[in-house]
Amino acid sequence: MPNCRKCGSYTKYNNGLCYSCYNNRNSKKGKVYFGESTRKDGTKKIYTGQTKRSVYERVGEHLKEVKKPKSKTYTGRGTGFKLLGSIFSNNRFKAERSIKKMSPEAKRSLAKKGARKYKKKRS
Ligand SMILES: [Zn+2]
Repeated sequence: MPNCRKCGSYTKYNNGLCYSCYNNRNSKKGKVYFGESTRKDGTKKIYTGQTKRSVYERVGEHLKEVKKPKSKTYTGRGTGFKLLGSIFSNNRFKAERSIKKMSPEAKRSLAKKGARKYKKKRS
């Protein structure tokens, strides 16, 4: 029986991708999230990222980088990282691109909106 090369479930062609992995690979849907990165000089910068996974998973990865003494990532070179909020997008790549051009104030207000949505969803 042919198996998906990613998850091992049934697929039509051997070494191919099953329906859900194929869809996932091309999925533009996901979240754009905002974090506050504390830099070595004490300033706080807004970091924008995108993911199709859980935002908390990504934040965990950022925090891991922060702890590394010689991280090469932008957030890892800072001294702290805090999630401000996230928004859902049907095209996370496009959203990330346009958000990155925004002013820090505009990013903060978007993040605030995203944080409110989070609270609503949880309650
Ligand atoms: Zn699969």
